[in-house]
Amino acid sequence: MKVSKDIENLIPYIPGKPISETKRELGLEKVIKLASNENPLGISPRAKQAMQDCLEDINLYPDGSCFELKEKLSKIVDLGPEWISFGNGSNEILDILIRIYCEPGDSILTSKSAFIVYKLCAQAIGVKTVETPLTPEYGIDISAMTDFVQNSWTDKHKLIFIPNPNNPTGTYLNKTEMEKLLDVAGNREDLLIVFDEAYNEFVRAEDCPDTLGYLKKYNNVVLIRTLSKVYGLAGLRVGYILAQPQVIDYFNRVRNPFNVNSLAQVGAMAALDDKDFLKRSQKIVWEGLDYFYEALEKLGYPYVKSQGNFVLFDTKGDAKVIAQELLKKGVIVRPVGGYGFPHHLRMSVGLPEENKAAIEALSSL
Ligand SMILES: *Cc1c(COP(=O)(O)O)cnc(C)c1O
Repeated sequence: MKVSKDIENLIPYIPGKPISETKRELGLEKVIKLASNENPLGISPRAKQAMQDCLEDINLYPDGSCFELKEKLSKIVDLGPEWISFGNGSNEILDILIRIYCEPGDSILTSKSAFIVYKLCAQAIGVKTVETPLTPEYGIDISAMTDFVQNSWTDKHKLIFIPNPNNPTGTYLNKTEMEKLLDVAGNREDLLIVFDEAYNEFVRAEDCPDTLGYLKKYNNVVLIRTLSKVYGLAGLRVGYILAQPQVIDYFNRVRNPFNVNSLAQVGAMAALDDKDFLKRSQKIVWEGLDYFYEALEKLGYPYVKSQGNFVLFDTKGDAKVIAQELLKKGVIVRPVGGYGFPHHLRMSVGLPEENKAAIEALSSL
């Protein structure tokens, strides 16, 4: 049966290469994966215990409203439960938002080289993606974005997606830049501004805004966060959305009734309680990034300073070939040609010995 042109042309998201597949294909015994921004420390021991204890009850359907998890998060973010909902990873939330607010022929606005999932979810339902250019420093060009909203916004444009910090660049928007956009786009009836804050907990820059404060000040701001990165629960699939109760109400109508499974709910609750694991995860990433910066500098590879748990660097060659060479040495990194960077690689921070092995592999090329 025939499908739409958009579906026909849809190129699926390419995930990082799995360790097992790499071992099998290349006959390697030891493989280090620094390709998917995963937490090298694993998961919180408290989350693990909570999930083990929950296995007994897995015959029961989960709580479709995530009541207890919502209560817990409500205290952490200081917002009523009517401002909160959850998704099967934040990916699902992005997808649902587009399905709620856009019809075929509509458009979303984001930046060039922004997280590619926005565009893929849009294309799947016949929605176009408008992209503003990057700044020479690989950042989102807030002037270009503000100009677009001011001068080119039509009733076909619906949502703005801002990954802050962005993946794969690691760049962020500071308070001044963010407020420049909000001055123009905030509190408008004809658009929502979605801040995708998957790497929120890794930000070290002091001028990065506290976006929670924007939620009450601007009624069209939406925040999306995840338990996949700093909390290490990528395989469990839990993300959350913070927004005006009206947005949450629409979101709850459209999502599947049991979109967050029972293990994910108890695992997320325990993870949110484990401040020690959070701190250790931040520390290992910050130290790893500093190590990468120094090593990349020595090797003569220009890099982009990152507020995430990964670094984008310029190999000054064909990054795909270099990634393949690294693969043969048992190191999986992420080529980012699909983001318009054919010469760059994205490398996640691993354990100190993994970071060292990756840099050694790079130096030996
Ligand atoms: C990793 C990532 C996500 C989503 O992850 P989930 O596992 O689906 O929660 C969202 N946005 C960005 C920018 C990411 O890098």
